[in-house]
Amino acid sequence: MGQLRLILEHLQTEFVSTGGLQIAPKSAESLLRLLDEDLDFSQKVLAPEPMLVFLTDCGHRSYDAFCRPYLLDDNVAVCDIFLMHILRDKHSSPESMLLHELGHVLNVRLTGDIAVIPPAFLDFGEPFFPGLGTKHRSIAGELFAHCFAMGVFSRHPELRELDPFTMVTTEDKQAFGQFMEALIRTLPG
Ligand SMILES: [Zn+2]
Repeated sequence: MGQLRLILEHLQTEFVSTGGLQIAPKSAESLLRLLDEDLDFSQKVLAPEPMLVFLTDCGHRSYDAFCRPYLLDDNVAVCDIFLMHILRDKHSSPESMLLHELGHVLNVRLTGDIAVIPPAFLDFGEPFFPGLGTKHRSIAGELFAHCFAMGVFSRHPELRELDPFTMVTTEDKQAFGQFMEALIRTLPG
């Protein structure tokens, strides 16, 4: 009983009902379709099991979105994505958050562990983010996910209005797009 009360208290303090902004299911679907056409994303990056994208009806005090990796019985790493109503990050678009989380999914597919960054990214990213492999190593996973999102935006000018990375040059974003495409090509499937 005490345990249940703790869970209830946790839910009441962490989650809040809100009318905040959230991605529309149609928009999420069309982004995923775009990634399939452009990068063969489902086939290459997602496990054969369906990936679940939860669009919750509330906001979380600490996270606007997150991705939860876990291992299946056959040791295949899969991820579910949770997109809450946005409470914290007023700069990003819901679409860029979904792309960011899909960047984490790609990371998990490449290394089997969200905490292990693809080594090729540490080399490639160093000129863009000096110290990436050393003093900024702890945020390399976040930068990888951001670079995936920026790369997708650079490949699809029709998404320009949803791109919050206006401070990054087109050339850099295109480089991220080419790098991510090359990484995905190395995957079987
Ligand atoms: Zn992230």
